[in-house]
Amino acid sequence: MIRVRFAPSPTGFPHVGNIRTAMFNWLFARRHGGKFIVRVEDTDQNRLVSGALDSILEALDWLGLQWDEGPNVEGPYGPYFQSQRLRHYESITDQLVKEDQAYYCYCTPERLTCMRKRQQSLKQPTGYDRHCLNLSSPEKDKMHGASKTRVIRFRMPNDRSIILEDLIGGKVSWDSNLLDDFVILKSDRYPTYHLANVVDDHLMEITHVLRAEEWLPSTPKHLMIYQALNWNAPLFGHMPMILGPDKSKLSKRHGATSALEYKEMGYLPEAMINFMALLGWSLDDHTEIFSQQDLVKGFSLDRVVKSAAIFNKEKLDWMNGLYIRSMDLDDLTVRLEDYWKEFPDQALSIPNNVSRDYLLKVVSLIQERLKLLSEAQELTGFFFLDDTDLEIMELIQKGMDAEVTFLALNVTLNELRAMDSFNVQNLEKCLLDINTQLKLSRKQFLGMLRIALTGKKISPPIFETMEVLGRDRCIRRLELARSWLS
Ligand code: GLU
Repeated sequence: MIRVRFAPSPTGFPHVGNIRTAMFNWLFARRHGGKFIVRVEDTDQNRLVSGALDSILEALDWLGLQWDEGPNVEGPYGPYFQSQRLRHYESITDQLVKEDQAYYCYCTPERLTCMRKRQQSLKQPTGYDRHCLNLSSPEKDKMHGASKTRVIRFRMPNDRSIILEDLIGGKVSWDSNLLDDFVILKSDRYPTYHLANVVDDHLMEITHVLRAEEWLPSTPKHLMIYQALNWNAPLFGHMPMILGPDKSKLSKRHGATSALEYKEMGYLPEAMINFMALLGWSLDDHTEIFSQQDLVKGFSLDRVVKSAAIFNKEKLDWMNGLYIRSMDLDDLTVRLEDYWKEFPDQALSIPNNVSRDYLLKVVSLIQERLKLLSEAQELTGFFFLDDTDLEIMELIQKGMDAEVTFLALNVTLNELRAMDSFNVQNLEKCLLDINTQLKLSRKQFLGMLRIALTGKKISPPIFETMEVLGRDRCIRRLELARSWLS
């Protein structure tokens, strides 16, 4: 049974890199009928950020990456918060100390700083100098009672070659002589990441550790802990980094980095999943669009690449637009309504008396051009405004004056009143030669109409827009525009 885990530290927002890691774990579990576990690595008490875990879980929820065990989903290997598992780490460290594979260290932070500076000035590798390993028993006894900064260090065996067959990166090896005796239990009795991570991966029977490449340097330490405890290590796969377009590590400098910011900006979860899947993985050399089911069916670790992936926001925008266009009109409308409910700042103020039919028509007008759900507000707000609330600026087009504009509005009004049925075909037929009659360019005439009817320089196609607005509203808006001229 495959068991994988996503092990976030609740120290910040859900970075897209972390969420991509979670997603690859999820896909791998689903692909093989295994379990996807969320384990909260909250042992660094000084770095905890309140609300961070909720945001991380919300991001997973948003993307449909449901976990089988973890917060709010009890399972046989719980608790799933490391802060509630301290007894496991204590008993393991006791065992390691008893077996001389770990030892107490009483060095003060000041001594450690001095040591590091000395090593640096002598151009030696920095690392713990084993001062406390070499204390005599009476010295140890004396220090033990008095020390407030007592920690436990892992005793790194000498002269070992540590070898990893990484599922993604291939073979990597390290020389244990270059690794120091790192801390496994801190002075606050909490474990360090290294110890807790290994103990929990073992106790939770994790079979594959799929994590970001930045953890690769920690892996030899982990492998040595597994060896010291006589435990089989899981398989490891380190996923490629995600870089910004300038090839530096993806950061705030490149724009939004929290998955939830993408939610708020109006990206669809299915587009986000599709986009993130291609950050370091591909099905073949050409397929770009996948449903979640396709991804689950096609996901394999051998197609995760070693080289870094580039986060290309234009591609994400394109994909989001594509997903929006391929949606059923009703679905898109419901999505927009849910989105507006959740993010009222991005919402339209839609009066209560607006019919569903009107809303659907409005949405159908923008579906082709909408890239983000958030754009709907700007593109369609005028459909729902009171006529008198339209902001009319720059009604008079370049090369026209108030008099010609007045005249053009008048002629248009007459046509609209006389028209049989008020639809796109008739509007095109009746309005298209007005500009020639008045010796105006099409651009001038339509520009004027667009401003008078929508208050905007850019809108959905104007005749379609007029049909949806309806004859009465169009007449009222043109009359209002005209009244500002006289
Ligand atoms: N808590 C670590 C993190 O925040 C987990 C690393 C791992 O997966 O081993 O990414």
